[in-house]
Formats: sequence, structure tokens, C-alpha cells
Amino acid sequence: MIPEFLPPLLSSLRGKILWNEPLSAHTSLKVGGRVHAYIFPKDVKEVCDLIHALEKNHAHYKVLGDGSNFLPTDEDFSGVILNLAALDEISILEETPERILVQVGAGVSKQKLLFWAASKGFSGIEFLSGIPGQVGGGLFMNAGTHLGSFSDVAKKVFLVTQKGEVEEKALGSDDFSYRAQSFSKNKIIVDCVLRFTHGNPKEIEEKVKKMIAERKAAQPLNTPNCGSVFKNPNGNSAGKLIESAGLKEYRVGNAMVSPKHANFIVNLGGATAKDILSIIQHVKKTVKELKGVELQEEVVIAPSSHSARCS
Ligand SMILES: Cc1cc2nc3c(=O)[nH]c(=O)nc-3n(C[C@H](O)[C@H](O)[C@H](O)COP(=O)(O)OP(=O)(O)OC[C@H]3O[C@@H](n4cnc5c(N)ncnc54)[C@H](O)[C@@H]3O)c2cc1C
Repeated sequence: MIPEFLPPLLSSLRGKILWNEPLSAHTSLKVGGRVHAYIFPKDVKEVCDLIHALEKNHAHYKVLGDGSNFLPTDEDFSGVILNLAALDEISILEETPERILVQVGAGVSKQKLLFWAASKGFSGIEFLSGIPGQVGGGLFMNAGTHLGSFSDVAKKVFLVTQKGEVEEKALGSDDFSYRAQSFSKNKIIVDCVLRFTHGNPKEIEEKVKKMIAERKAAQPLNTPNCGSVFKNPNGNSAGKLIESAGLKEYRVGNAMVSPKHANFIVNLGGATAKDILSIIQHVKKTVKELKGVELQEEVVIAPSSHSARCS
């Protein structure tokens, strides 16, 4: 049941509100229970005001991008999910022969940014080719491939704190690690500055198209999934370990380890978060027993109590 304080708290919101919304409509795995309100703040000020009000009411909340790296619970989330898709501005701050600095809203789609940069001949984020989701989620995850990650290009980040205030932080390589970062704990990423170099628009576009085609050939993109479920252990490939442990096509309910790529779990239709979690646990246990390697999840798993007050 939607708590009494929530409708008045959200009544002045200019952005869209989806009440009692199934999270399965907002995660790439197509699983998840309902959330009291799934909202789209219009601008950074609205994010600040909202966080201030939600904190004052001790409300649970979480920020999500496109949900392409998130496994929610099947149970309902008694709180608010903020989606920053309306923070979608891209603006050039500086352009010299040596470098280009671009300010990018957290809600900008990575693929939109990639093709915008390619059309202008701005090189540096080709590693994002085919990676779904928003820039905010990408920074949070330090998303990337062996060709690069956000840590290579992110120079500054703007965050909304739990007090509802905007904080600015210069970024260096120390702020990031493999698929992780240290700056956004209990904070919401609303904007960032990325660094590009000059390249040839045609060459960048061809490189991007080639990388997208390679993904299509290697990954089960026609079935709901969350990309790589596990991080690659140092000097090893999670997919190869899972495959050689004989776990391809291991199935629980309607979820299965993909026969195409063993580091992907696919929802064959109607799978639950519990099915997917059971596979994750079985894969970890089997790979540890047979290969002696402790796999670590890359996908963000919601705590069973779903008690997050922030991301
Ligand atoms: C087919 C497929 C292929 C993929 N390939 C890759 C790949 O090659 N490399 C890779 O790194 N990832 C890959 N992914 C995983 C995923 O797309 C990335 O991690 C992506 O960056 C997540 O973005 P998102 O907007 O969907 O984040 P979400 O899944 O919505 O969120 C992920 C986490 O980030 C937090 N978050 C989101 N936005 C914000 C914000 N504004 N401020 C603070 N926290 C925030 C959320 O709370 C959550 O904890 C793939 C996924 C799929 C489905």
C-alpha cells in the first residue's frame, strides 16, 4: 500500500510518476516486484528537492538507469525509484587541438552519446559500443571492456548528496577500479565531464559498427539478460570457467545459463529474480568446487530486505 506521506510529497513533481509500477518493466532481465513510485525528475534541482524531502521522511529510495545491470527482488520495494532519463543534455565545454571536454547529463543513453561523439569525430568512448544503459549507471559501474572504461575518460562528476545538495568532484584513476568506483556511495550522479580527443568520424563510426556486430555474434541479445553476470577473475575469463565447469544451459525455472555465452543468464520468459539468484549461487558454488575460483558478481543484486535508502 502506498504510504500516506508519499502522494503529497510528490504532488509538486513536474516529471512523470508511475504509481505501483512493476520493476520488471524497467530491468533488462524483465524481473522484479512493484515499487510504490517510479519517477522521472525533470532537472537537477528537482532531484535535490526530492532527496531532501525523501530523507526528511525517512523514505526508502534508489536511483536506477536503464536497469541493465540490476537484479531486483521479486518482492515489492516499499519506496521510490528515481530514473534520471530527463537529465539528457550534452554540451561541449572546451575544444582545443589537444582535447575536448564535454558535459554529459547522467540520464544520457550511452549509445546516443557514442553516436553523437562519432558524428563529431570525438574519439575516446568507442569502448561503449553496444553497452546499454545511461551514463550515470555507466559511471557507477565503471562500465567498459578490455578496450577501456569510464575511468579513462571521466574527469569530473556532479553528485547529489543525502542533504539534497550538489557536490562537484574532480576524478582521477584512483577513484575507479574494475567495474567499481569510490565516489558515489549514498550519492546520486547527476552530471559528468568526459574527455575526448580528435578522430575521424568515418573511422570511429566503422569501428563502433564492427564492435556492435561482434557483440551480436557473441552475446544472446535477443533474450532478456543483464550482460556479464560475473566479473572476470584476474587473468581469467568468467565465461570460460563457467563453460568448462559444464554449466552452459544450467536451468532453474525459466532462467538459464546462456548456451551462446556462459557468463550470461537469460530469462526465457516468466523467470523470477529468485530463479536467477539460484543460478548465480549454483554457478559460484560449482566453479569454486571444480576450478577453485571464487567468482564475484558484476550485476548489482538488491538486498533481500530491499532496504536501500540510496544507491
Ligand atoms: C546485453 C548487455 C551487454 C552488456 N555489456 C556490458 C559491457 O560490455 N561492459 C559493462 O561494463 N557492462 C555491460 N553491461 C551491463 C550494463 O549495461 C552496464 O553496467 C551499464 O553501465 C548499466 O547502466 P544502467 O543505466 O542500466 O544502470 P542500472 O542497471 O540502472 O544501475 C546499475 C547500478 O548503478 C546505479 N546507478 C544507476 N544510475 C545511477 C546514478 N545516476 N547515480 C548513482 N548510481 C546510479 C544503480 O543504483 C545500480 O546500483 C551489459 C548489459 C547488457 C544487458
